[in-house]
Amino acid sequence: MIPLRLERGASFGMYVHVPFCARHCPYCDFTVAVVSRVPHEAYGGAVVGEIERRGRAHAGQALRTLYLGGGTPSLWSVGQIGRVVGCVARLWGLPPEVTLEVNPEGVTRERLEAWRGLGVNRLSFGVQSFSAPVLRTLGRAHSPEGAFRAVALALEAGFPHVSVDLMHGVPGQGEAEVEADLRALAALEGVDHVSAYELTWEPRTSFEARRVRGMLSVPEQDAVVTLERLQRAGLGELGFERYEVSSHARAGGRSRHNEGYWSGREVLAVGVGAHGLRVSGGMAVRRANTRSLRRYLEAWSRGELAEPSEEERLTAATHLGERLLTGVRTVSGVDGAALRRRFGEGVVELVPLFERWASRGWGRVFDGGFVPSSRALDHADTLGLDALQHVEARWGGEAFARFGLEQVVDT
Ligand code: SF4
Repeated sequence: MIPLRLERGASFGMYVHVPFCARHCPYCDFTVAVVSRVPHEAYGGAVVGEIERRGRAHAGQALRTLYLGGGTPSLWSVGQIGRVVGCVARLWGLPPEVTLEVNPEGVTRERLEAWRGLGVNRLSFGVQSFSAPVLRTLGRAHSPEGAFRAVALALEAGFPHVSVDLMHGVPGQGEAEVEADLRALAALEGVDHVSAYELTWEPRTSFEARRVRGMLSVPEQDAVVTLERLQRAGLGELGFERYEVSSHARAGGRSRHNEGYWSGREVLAVGVGAHGLRVSGGMAVRRANTRSLRRYLEAWSRGELAEPSEEERLTAATHLGERLLTGVRTVSGVDGAALRRRFGEGVVELVPLFERWASRGWGRVFDGGFVPSSRALDHADTLGLDALQHVEARWGGEAFARFGLEQVVDT
């Protein structure tokens, strides 16, 4: 057995979490702070302070992407977003992709121009649906017309990249509603990315509580699959390529930030509840910031960073398992050269696994890596489990335990 090593890469991405929301959507379990008054200035000070402090570990690395996600980053003042972007530009230069997540109801022509002026070149809209009954079920604040207008305004304002989130599997949603989404997208030609998610029923959400009480019924899985197929086929006809299980892009529209996650790029995570990855001293360290806005701000008022809510050190084998698990969910697959750079020549021992997958029609082996077929994306979980099993058999590690997996698969 050739042992693995763990080397850090030359570049990283940055995720800034902006937790503020005007209200709590009933299905959402993200880290959010529903506030009547956004602490604009205080949060900006703490975020910039954290970037300066934690950023020291990334001195000398190139920043590839900056992503401001939430929560609802569009609720944060333009001045504070500018403060963050300015700090990042001063320390690393403005990265080629700067994404801001926005909710349609927060969009005006003036704000769009201001964000554009700051260097934001990608907007990701939390639309979820262009159908009024679905938006009502989801408890969203915008109407289909409002969402359409906001996205159209962003395109008019000249944003080169615009992404729209859509959901399927919502109670009461049928083919007519999915077709309404596709019609809206057909009319919004400049949208170059769609994230298409199935609604998940998370513990401790209002949706889940209503389901348990019998007030809301989960759609049958067959019906959800039918809607997903309809949505996927429609996106294909509109020129969107499915490049990851839930992500679809027109030419040039892939999310480089998300590609960074899937390929194991380090992520400097900043702000309440943000999750990041750092490679250091032969280990990969996953850190999740505190989920409490109060604790985050109080710590910074003392000039300190709040204690993380989680910090986990991963061995090279466990981190390799993660890389494979996410890689098989993308059409780019598992990049052999990138694996060798990060883990050393030991990864050659993955080739028999990749050859076995190729012999079963799941894709092809390329340069010591694996490129899944588009059909294989629908079976990404099976391949991922198989990969973890292979990694554990060769190098040990806690890959299965980490992901709470027990099942042994036969591809
Ligand atoms: S706006 Fe987004 S982040 Fe905020 S509660 Fe709704 S789904 Fe969650």
